[in-house]
Amino acid sequence: MSYLDNVKIVLVETSHTGNMGSAARAMKTMGLTNLCLVNPVIKPDSQSISLAAGASDIIKNAQIFSSLEQAIADCTLVIGTSARSRSLQWPHLTPKTCGDKIIQEATKSYAQVALVFGRERVGLTNEELQKCHYHVGIPANPDYSSLNLAMSVQVLCYEIRMSMLNLENNISEQKNGNMSETEFPIDADIERFYQHLEQTLLHTGFIKANHPGQIMGRLRRLFTRARIEQQELNILRGILTSIDKTLQ
Ligand code: SAH
Repeated sequence: MSYLDNVKIVLVETSHTGNMGSAARAMKTMGLTNLCLVNPVIKPDSQSISLAAGASDIIKNAQIFSSLEQAIADCTLVIGTSARSRSLQWPHLTPKTCGDKIIQEATKSYAQVALVFGRERVGLTNEELQKCHYHVGIPANPDYSSLNLAMSVQVLCYEIRMSMLNLENNISEQKNGNMSETEFPIDADIERFYQHLEQTLLHTGFIKANHPGQIMGRLRRLFTRARIEQQELNILRGILTSIDKTLQ
C-alpha cells in the first residue's frame, strides 16, 4: 500500500486513444495506477494498449465515468490542470506545491485525491475548473504553453513522486537519527591525532622539520571539513601506530 494508491488521474473527454496509453505509461513510471476516464470520445483501443507499453494493465483497469462529478465523488481534494490562467481567480499551485499538497492529503487513510486533465483541443471548461479546489499550471513557454496531454501527466506525476520520496526520506532520516547516534570525538582527541599525524609524517620525511610548509594546515582543514567520527578517528590513529611500528 502506497500513498500513491490514494491518488487518481482523471482524463476528461480525451479524443486520442494513444494519449490514454501514453498517460498510463507516464503514470506507471511514477508509481501511480488509478486512471479514470470521463466520457472518452473513443473507448481505449489497441492504439492505447500499444502506447501504454508495459502499462497496459492501467488501461485495462481504468474506470470509465459519464461525468466529472461522478469521477470525483469520493475525493477529498480535487486539483484541475490548465495550460493558461483563465480570467477566473482561483487558488493556483506550481507543479511542486501541487505534488506536496497531493502527498500531504494522500497520507490520510480516508483520503482520495484527483488530478484532472482536460480535452486535447480545449482543455477543461470553466464549470469543470470551478469544481476543483486548486488549479495547477506547468509554467511553460508563455508563447506556446500547451503541452501534449500525456506529457503534462508525466510532468505532474513526476512532481507527485518527488514529494512522496521527500516525505519518505524525511521519515527514514528521523528514524535513523533515533536509532544510531553517531559518536563524535572531543576536540582534545582530535588535537592528539594531529600531533600524532605530524610526528609520524616527520618520521617518514613527508614533512621536513625546517620546511614544514602548509601541509598540517591543509590536513586539518580536510579533517575538519569531513567531521571525523569517533570510529574513524580510531582507525586513523591505528594506521599511524602501524606506520610508527614499521619505522622502528
Ligand atoms: N487549449 C487547451 C490546451 C489543452 S492541452 C487549454 O488551454 O487548456 C490538454 C490538457 O493537457 C490540458 O487540459 C491540461 O490538462 C494539460 N496541459 C497541457 N499543458 C499544460 C500546462 N502547461 N500546465 C498544466 N496542464 C497542461
